[in-house]
Amino acid sequence: MTSAIPAADRGDFDFDLFVIGAGSGGVRAARIAAGHGARVGIAEAFRFGGTCVIRGCVPKKLLVYASRFADDFAAAEGFGWSVPKPAFDWSRLIAAKDKEIARLEGLYRENLARSSATIFPLRAKIAGPHCVELADGRRLRCRDILIATGGEPTMPTGIPGLELAISSNEVFDLPALPGRIAIVGGGYIAVEFAGIFAGLGSQVSLIYRRPALLRGFDDDVVAELSRACVERGIMLRPSANVERLDKRDTGAIGVTLDNGDTFEADQVLVATGRAPATAGLGLDTVGVALDSSGGILVDDRSRTSVAGIFAVGDVTRRLSLTPVAIRQGHAFADSLYGARPWQADLTQVPTAVFSTPEIGTVGLTEAEARETLAITDIYKTSFRTLKATLSGSGERMLMKLVVDGQTDRLVGAHLLGPDAGEMVQILATLLRTGATKADLDNTMPLHPSSAEELMTLRTRSARHSRPAR
Ligand code: FAD
Repeated sequence: MTSAIPAADRGDFDFDLFVIGAGSGGVRAARIAAGHGARVGIAEAFRFGGTCVIRGCVPKKLLVYASRFADDFAAAEGFGWSVPKPAFDWSRLIAAKDKEIARLEGLYRENLARSSATIFPLRAKIAGPHCVELADGRRLRCRDILIATGGEPTMPTGIPGLELAISSNEVFDLPALPGRIAIVGGGYIAVEFAGIFAGLGSQVSLIYRRPALLRGFDDDVVAELSRACVERGIMLRPSANVERLDKRDTGAIGVTLDNGDTFEADQVLVATGRAPATAGLGLDTVGVALDSSGGILVDDRSRTSVAGIFAVGDVTRRLSLTPVAIRQGHAFADSLYGARPWQADLTQVPTAVFSTPEIGTVGLTEAEARETLAITDIYKTSFRTLKATLSGSGERMLMKLVVDGQTDRLVGAHLLGPDAGEMVQILATLLRTGATKADLDNTMPLHPSSAEELMTLRTRSARHSRPAR
């Protein structure tokens, strides 16, 4: 492979590109740049694959699958099956999860090696212009440096006893399934773990400081999720903060909230936020500028304030999702080493919350549309799923479409229920390509399915005109 980098520009550097952090964004950037002929080095302080593979999306989804079997066993009776009382073994689940994560980590390493990137399983930092220092003291001269160090869970400060709590980093490796778990946070990670532990049989309390869960999500979806959580036995504790944790003689953790409530739990999981992983990276030695939340400031080509230093993924705080980090890494490498400039498009990005029931969402919420559009049309339906008729479960599906009343274009879709994430992935393409509500009406429904309801939402639920300002 001939390099896209002219020989004159390669100078006396050890590497054309050095990537710090082998997670979603860093690995993609390293492989693509190496494929374009760049001499690439990549350092990883923990495990190859990064947050998503090791202690994020992938192990979480495996735990979500595990937690949903409880519902399946219960539902099976209604379909004629006799199911002996199921027993669950946390250690077996975690061992199986660990085996799969180790396999994936191996694939990440192999693919990097195959792309001819040089791998350093070490922490790295910036030691000066064009200079990276590894934890073993080696210094490398690098023409370009890409920071792809991701994010880390943050723990609130000033709460007595908080050292008794764990973060999402530890939750994947608990020695035993907690009988009672208190989860602190109202964001997607907190809500997902509430569903996981409730499904596996733990008693779950969810403590969050706002009156409602999932800030930024559509109000109807949040209300329905909260109702379903309560129905599944999750104790919701809104508008509350943890004031104190203390260790009891029994080994339990006492939880005291600022509303006066006290109760006991066997584990306390804090999932109140994540911060860009920039500590100890040496950014101050070269003057890389940060934003007010500590994220690395970049332009739309992932360039930082310092020439030759770039950043992608969660460390830039643009949109903290795996596919976003991957596309940013890919675009960076194609643009710089492949003479093919492009940028990751961060509009109409679909997201899922793998709570039970699950949420899939893309585009404007009703509240956002009413703020920005002259006329907003809402189409929504809520129904018991076909499966629930025989299983006798309370499983429901909520579907909501947000439509620009002037153009008939679909501007938002918000689903809650089985496979909501899968459906929203496809709806995102419809939003991007400018599909109208009439396009859905004209599409032949697929029967019997839940998705067909999206094609048969004939009656508008509401029309809102933006008040004159
Ligand atoms: P990361 O994947 O975090 O990779 C950064 C890497 O850099 C890490 O391996 C780290 O060890 C390494 N590193 C840090 N500092 C140094 C250093 N100085 N030297 C060397 N190496 C260093 N996203 C989704 O899209 N869908 C989901 O369902 C989803 N679920 C999630 C669930 C949880 C519990 C969490 C925590 C996150 C989840 N995410 C999800 C977010 C997703 O994991 C991140 O957006 C994604 O991993 C970001 O990729 P990245 O490349 O920016 O960073």
